[in-house]
Amino acid sequence: MSHHFPEILAPAGSLDKLKVAVLYGANAVYVGGQKFGLRTAADNFTLEELKEGLAFAHERGVQVYVVLNSFLHDKDISELPEFISFLESIKVDAVIVSDLGVVKTVSKLSKIPIHISTQASTLNVEAAKLWKSMGATRIVVGREVSIKEAGKIKREANIEIEMFIHGSMCMAYSGHCVISNFTQGRDSNRGGCAHSCRFEYSLDMGLDTEEKKKAYFMSSKDLEGLRVLPEFINEGIDSLKIEGRMKSHLYAGTMSKVYSEALAYYREHGNFLSEDLIHWESELSKVSHRAYTQASLIEKAGEESIFNERENSSDSEWQMVGKVLEANPKSGIVIEVRNAFNQGDLIEILPFKGPAISILANEITDIMLRPVQRTKPSTLIKLPFVKGVEAFHLVRQKVKA
Ligand code: SF4
Repeated sequence: MSHHFPEILAPAGSLDKLKVAVLYGANAVYVGGQKFGLRTAADNFTLEELKEGLAFAHERGVQVYVVLNSFLHDKDISELPEFISFLESIKVDAVIVSDLGVVKTVSKLSKIPIHISTQASTLNVEAAKLWKSMGATRIVVGREVSIKEAGKIKREANIEIEMFIHGSMCMAYSGHCVISNFTQGRDSNRGGCAHSCRFEYSLDMGLDTEEKKKAYFMSSKDLEGLRVLPEFINEGIDSLKIEGRMKSHLYAGTMSKVYSEALAYYREHGNFLSEDLIHWESELSKVSHRAYTQASLIEKAGEESIFNERENSSDSEWQMVGKVLEANPKSGIVIEVRNAFNQGDLIEILPFKGPAISILANEITDIMLRPVQRTKPSTLIKLPFVKGVEAFHLVRQKVKA
């Protein structure tokens, strides 16, 4: 049986992260402009950056979708037409929309394909048919939908389907939550979510002390769908989305690399070897994350999906220490340092394809070739050339045993 293979859709919170995601194998990226998207704190793209990002991606056969998924008031809608004509002029591949008013405005003013955001909580065939009749070309189904249900929606509504395969989860129907509005004054449906569901709450309902301590009862584990990649393929899902426009370069690169390599492997062999799965899972564990869950991909998520622990953003054993700016057999490797490391440390270069390259950083110099004992963030350093290293490769280091 021939299969339809999905695209890997990666988050790009900035122009630099877009380049990282594209180079590490994403087939499509999604980005936010400075307005109308749900991540006001992300490094959203200026108009110039959107143009540059689109050119960079299109030259490499990668699609770019622009997020317009805020719920808007009339005064915001009045500013939308100008932005839509700009997006059409630079040939974005789609916009991701939740608000009916935005769907109407985009379809009236342009021919840009419309993807219905997960914020619209599409969970059934009839809803998908209705969106299609209004001009939508793709539905990002609600995260409560299983892969099987999504396959049914695709077949019966005859529309492209996108599903999340990886990333942080919302404990509410995506975004339909106002805890952040009322506790922090930040509107989660207009890009301001403060992740209030991750905070500690005390639940005093006559429970004994031990249970009262379990106070992170609204915080979800992170989604990880690597092992069910074959189910997505069998159901003909069109796009596998990685959450996280606000996450790091290392996250954007690692996720794009792991999922695109796993998909390419499956395409070639028709199955997975367990040792490869273990390798990819270990790569996924090298970026900061909460415990993983398959959430509702196969069966409805339950109590086991709750991450009943305090948030700790520095939980990762690995951190990004830099990015390769230049790699030349004659002049060596130039690295832009993000986090300090020492002479003699073992670091790893993450190539766009294939296994990481380990380097013992014995000979570090600055660009004037003066020896360096300990690197400093935001400086440039040089290492001797190593085969396989290229510009834009990310450099990581194990920081915890
Ligand atoms: S506070 Fe949590 S549940 Fe509410 S919108 Fe934000 S991430 Fe979702």
